[in-house]
Amino acid sequence: MNKTDTLRKDLLYTSEHAAKRLSAEDISAADKYADGYKAFLECKIEREVVSYAVAMAEKNGFVPFDKNTVYKKGSKIYLNHHGKALILAVLGSRPLTDGVSVAAAHIDSPRLDLKPNPLYEDQELAYFDTHYYGGIKKYQWPALPLTLRGVVFRRDGTCVPVSVGDTPDEPVFCVTDLLPHLSGEQYKRPAPELIKGEDLNILIGSRPLSDGKGDELVKLHIMQLLHEKYGIVESDLLSAELHAVPAYPARDVGFDRSMVGAYGQDDRVCAYPALTAILELKKPAYTAVTVLADKEEIGSNGTTGMKSAFFANFIEDLAAAQGAAGRHVLSASLCLSADVNVALDPIYPDTVERRNCARLNHGVVLTKYTGAHGKSDTSDASAEVMHRVRGILDDKGIVWQIGELGRVDLGGGGTVAKYIANLDVDTVDLGVPVLSMHAPFEVVSKLDVHMAHRAFEALFVR
Ligand code: MN
Ligand code: MN
Repeated sequence: MNKTDTLRKDLLYTSEHAAKRLSAEDISAADKYADGYKAFLECKIEREVVSYAVAMAEKNGFVPFDKNTVYKKGSKIYLNHHGKALILAVLGSRPLTDGVSVAAAHIDSPRLDLKPNPLYEDQELAYFDTHYYGGIKKYQWPALPLTLRGVVFRRDGTCVPVSVGDTPDEPVFCVTDLLPHLSGEQYKRPAPELIKGEDLNILIGSRPLSDGKGDELVKLHIMQLLHEKYGIVESDLLSAELHAVPAYPARDVGFDRSMVGAYGQDDRVCAYPALTAILELKKPAYTAVTVLADKEEIGSNGTTGMKSAFFANFIEDLAAAQGAAGRHVLSASLCLSADVNVALDPIYPDTVERRNCARLNHGVVLTKYTGAHGKSDTSDASAEVMHRVRGILDDKGIVWQIGELGRVDLGGGGTVAKYIANLDVDTVDLGVPVLSMHAPFEVVSKLDVHMAHRAFEALFVR
C-alpha cells in the first residue's frame, strides 16, 4: 500500500456493502434468519404480533409479569398490554438502578381501517367504508387484493377474531380504480388527491339475497353471511376493530434472493429482531427489555402507544419490587429505538443527501435525529449516546451505517425515540433501511435484518 492509500484507510470513513465485510457463514446465517422473519410477517396487525410473540415467549420460558413478585436474576417475564402492545424482560445480574437495556419497536403499520358504521350498498354492490390509518400514498391502495383482520365484539361481550383472505380457498377484497381510458379528469388532480380518502371503499359483495324483497338486498345478503359465519349483527360492527391489509405473503425479492418484499415491514422488520434477541438471551448483566408498541403510525397516542405511561409504569413496578424508584432506573438506562429509516433509492436520489443517507445492504442504520425542518420534533441523541452505541456495535463486529430521514427541509418524520428519551432514558434510533417505505410492498435486505438482530443482541449482552 502506498502512503496515500494508507492515509485513506487510516483517516477516512467509508461505508460498504455488508457482503464485503461478512463471512460466507454470516451471509448464510442471515438468509436462514430471513425464513423465520418471513413467517413472522404473516402477523399483519398489532394484535397478531402480540399473540405470536406471547406464544414464542412462553415457549422460551417467559411468564406473565406479576408486580408483587421479586424476580431473581435470569427471570424471564412479559406484560401483555391490552393485546396490542407487549413488554418482554430478562432480569440482569446487576441491580435495576444500574439501568436497563431497551429495544423498542412498533408493531402497527399503515393500512385501511373500517369506519365504525362501514357497511353500505351502492348500485347493487356492497362495500366497507374505510378511514386510512397512518401515512399512506392513497393511490397505492386500489386494485390490490386485501385481507380483513381484527376483532368484532358481539353484544353479549364475546370477541370474534376475524382473519379472511389469506389462504387460496378464502375470498379477498379490494378497492377498485378507474380505467385509464376514463381517467383524464382524475389525472388532473394533484397526486395526494388522485385517489380521495373517501373513495377508499372496499368491495365486499355483489349478489342479492335470494327471494329477497325491497331495497339493499346485496347488503342484507352480506350481513346474512357475516351472521352465519361470525354470529354478528350490523350494530356489532360499531364496536369492532377491523383492518384491511394486503393479502399476499412475504416473498424473496431478486434473482439473488437477497431481499424480502412484504407489507408491514415498517416496523416489523425491527420488531422481529428485537423479539428474537430477547428470546435467545441468557443471563444478561443489565436487565434487558423489548417493547413492542402500538399506534406509532398515528402519533403514539392512546393506552397502547409509546406516549402512554405503560412502559414507565412497568419499570416503576419492577423497580419497586427491588426497593428502587423507577425514575432512577430510567435515568441510568440505554434504549435503542428500533425503527426503520429510508434507504437511498437510485430512482429518487435527490430526496436524500448521499453522504448521510442509509443504503440497502450497508447494515443497520444508526439515526442520531429524525424530525423535520431544522430537527424539529426529534430527541437528537447526544455525542455521548452515539459514542456508546457505536462502541457496542463495533465491539461485536456489527455492520452499521448512519442515516438521516431525507434531505434537509424536504420532509422528515419521527419514531418512538423522543417519547422514551423524554422519560430521561438515553435513546437513539437503530433499525433497518427500507425501500418503498409505507407502500403495500416494502423491500429490505436480508443482511440488514440479520444485523439488526445482532445489534439488539449486542445491546442486551453489553
Ligand atoms: Mn416506523
Ligand atoms: Mn412508519
